[in-house]
Amino acid sequence: MKKHNFCAGPSILPREVIEQTAQAVLDFNGSGLSILEISHRSKDFQAVIDEAVALFKEILNIPEGYSVLFLGGGASMQFCMVPYNFLEKKAAYLNTGVWAKKALKEAKAFGEAVEVASSAETTYNYIPKGYTIPEDADYFHVTSNNTIYGTEIHEDLDSPIPMIADMSSDIFSRPVDVSKYICIYGGAQKNLAPAGATFVIVKDEALNKVSRYIPTMLNYQTHIEGGSMFNTPPVLPIYSAMLTLRWIKANGGVEEMQRRAKERADLLYGEIDRNKMFRATIADKADRSYMNICFVMNDEYKDLEAEFMKFATERGMVGIKGHRSVGGFRASCYNAMPIESVQALVDCMKEFEELKIKG
Ligand SMILES: *Cc1c(COP(=O)(O)O)cnc(C)c1O
Repeated sequence: MKKHNFCAGPSILPREVIEQTAQAVLDFNGSGLSILEISHRSKDFQAVIDEAVALFKEILNIPEGYSVLFLGGGASMQFCMVPYNFLEKKAAYLNTGVWAKKALKEAKAFGEAVEVASSAETTYNYIPKGYTIPEDADYFHVTSNNTIYGTEIHEDLDSPIPMIADMSSDIFSRPVDVSKYICIYGGAQKNLAPAGATFVIVKDEALNKVSRYIPTMLNYQTHIEGGSMFNTPPVLPIYSAMLTLRWIKANGGVEEMQRRAKERADLLYGEIDRNKMFRATIADKADRSYMNICFVMNDEYKDLEAEFMKFATERGMVGIKGHRSVGGFRASCYNAMPIESVQALVDCMKEFEELKIKG
């Protein structure tokens, strides 16, 4: 049976990226060696990371004066690297979910960290608006897509101070005005590559402004100077990231990724809104994520939740269980997700309705 992979992360990658990665594990570039057993300082791997960085800059239209890094440690490591490198006195954070809250918690160890707004009291089911960003803060931190709750900031915000964004789960799903940010980071395992690599876009001239000592490995400058090779980088995920970036470019770039994301989201939210058995957890359509589509069974059908899960699983749906803090269902629809898989889930919801209400 065909599987439809709605996992939240690690998650779906383009089939050709997986096949080409598998090939490189067996024989990299016809060298007779596996990519797993060559030096990261070899000419062949240098070409890989150079191409990955070049494609990253090209596809996201990153202006001059920014560096692209591939590091270890996950997005979670960035929660502390960001304030280490950028917070001198004060920073501002928008609290839109558990990841945003974790980032804020780390910042508090480095100086004054202000929560400008929060939707925590309603299980983060909307994106706060109409708050004031303190102009004397060093940066304003946002989480552009809230993977667990299914809310998304679809456009770069306006801010009187430089922004920093965790874009772990929506990178390359829309055009980004990188010039509004001094740093954008994320774990690769949602939209880019297998787990193990962390991407960081950093504005060079925003660095070296804090007065504290920054441990060598946590200093972005170290990794800029080392070309992401100060220490051994996550070689295989970087190779897959390069392949994914080639795939994005060949498939029309971020504009096309955004069009596809919107098409998938319109299809699935359309069914959730139409079908009496289901309800979207995010009421405000403007805040609904294109990447992580969260829904529950309406109150009168609540006791059918486990049955629908079984019904969908039997029809090939994988990874649609909602995060434990939200419940219900979450269909993650990252860049590589074909519209056919979303249609298969929609068909499932229709069939279930036929069976339970109309039948
Ligand atoms: C998954 C995720 C993280 C955590 O990433 P790790 O690489 O596991 O540390 C952080 N932020 C967001 C928005 C995420 O989706």
